[in-house]
Amino acid sequence: MTRALVASGPAPWQSKPMTEIDQRPAPKISFVSLGCPKALVDSERIITRLRAEGYELTRSHAGADAVVVNTCGFLDSAKAESLAAIGAALNENGKVIVTGCMGAEPGAIREAYPGVLAISGPQAYESVMEAVHEAAPPAHDPYVDLVPPQGVKLTPRHFAYLKISEGCNNTCSFCIIPALRGKLVSRPAGDVLREAEKLVRAGVKELLVISQDTSAYGIDLRYEESAFADRSVRAKFLDLTRELSTLGAWVRLHYVYPYPHVDEVVELMAQSGATGNLLQYLDIPFQHASPRVLKAMRRPGNQEKTLDRVKAWRQACPDLAIRSTFIVGFPGETEEDFEMLLDWLGEARLDRVGAFKYEPVKGAMANDLGLAVVPDEEKERRYRRFMEKQQAISASILKNKVGKRLQVIVDSFENGVGKGRSRADAPEIDGSVHIASRRPLRVGDLVTVKIDKAGPYDLHGMAV
Ligand code: SF4
Repeated sequence: MTRALVASGPAPWQSKPMTEIDQRPAPKISFVSLGCPKALVDSERIITRLRAEGYELTRSHAGADAVVVNTCGFLDSAKAESLAAIGAALNENGKVIVTGCMGAEPGAIREAYPGVLAISGPQAYESVMEAVHEAAPPAHDPYVDLVPPQGVKLTPRHFAYLKISEGCNNTCSFCIIPALRGKLVSRPAGDVLREAEKLVRAGVKELLVISQDTSAYGIDLRYEESAFADRSVRAKFLDLTRELSTLGAWVRLHYVYPYPHVDEVVELMAQSGATGNLLQYLDIPFQHASPRVLKAMRRPGNQEKTLDRVKAWRQACPDLAIRSTFIVGFPGETEEDFEMLLDWLGEARLDRVGAFKYEPVKGAMANDLGLAVVPDEEKERRYRRFMEKQQAISASILKNKVGKRLQVIVDSFENGVGKGRSRADAPEIDGSVHIASRRPLRVGDLVTVKIDKAGPYDLHGMAV
């Protein structure tokens, strides 16, 4: 996912053009955030710090005192996009600070743009702030509270990403995230819960739990307990999920790997029921189904028995919605492997699926496995076959929802037409519910919608 915050006009989080004691105008920073939700959380933290120090955020590079570009380095196409964003910022402004995943390879950035002021890797908040201080010293007013207690969020007010750990202990052969972001470092449960509590107090209705490997949460801390409210909470996936679901907002779990202890979390979902705050939703990046390909990918979790696991979870929790992503055209993937994947898809009948055509990432182990490269035209063909197959599955799953009443969170409402998401749909990656309503709806409202029509990805219905 890519998100760029460059546009004209004042930024929504901009509240004061000038600090009240220091009469110098507050320095302006233009911020570009690229990449996945994990990078977005880094952007939020940096922006929170900037606002706390009195910086003003502007959506235009021209006229800003400096530009910060938070880059993505996951795929070569993402790197190209990051380089283009840096180039645009240099042209329009000239004072550019680069951070994020691509910053872990400063050579490539320096080679293309020797004029950038500073380069740092992901989560290097201090380095970014130092570079900003140097480029545009703050006009700080310690008496004016510029930042809401929950920090500055780049997502709409009604949902927020909650990062529970950084880094990853796995060694998937196509991925350079562990090299970029380091080994797993989990946040103490108390810290995560306090952040979640602040978000809910500020109006967040849906917490999207993210990390590189959510089910590995706490392993590095040996599940250490930490204080939250009047109790101690273990840094354990199950315990954290249980506590989060008591805070009064929907809790959606992303990037979960099918480790055995995920079964306990599915049981918790079943206990919390079809209307509980813990959503009966799992985002599990399966990536493939052929044991040969999974082995070459070096995927974590017992990925070869996933169909059995999916069936058992559905037995325990019949309304469980599963979303996943897959890679087609991984080196060495044969027609037989690919057909196995299509058959698997037909049996698993996942609710939401995304696919990527394999892209070799510089520095990834997969490039050196000595496996046959799948030609681009073949990758494209497989991708289309895959998407066609899944489209039919998705359409038939959604058709079964016609006539049902679903709880929907409202994402937008304009001119009498609302758009939202059911409990089975995450923002930005899954489908939408288009809502006809006789009464005005507010963003973040939970409404019951009677579904009267289904497409391949979206549902349509009437608010009741
Ligand atoms: S689990 Fe695999 S794909 Fe995900 S961040 Fe870790 S190494 Fe990369």
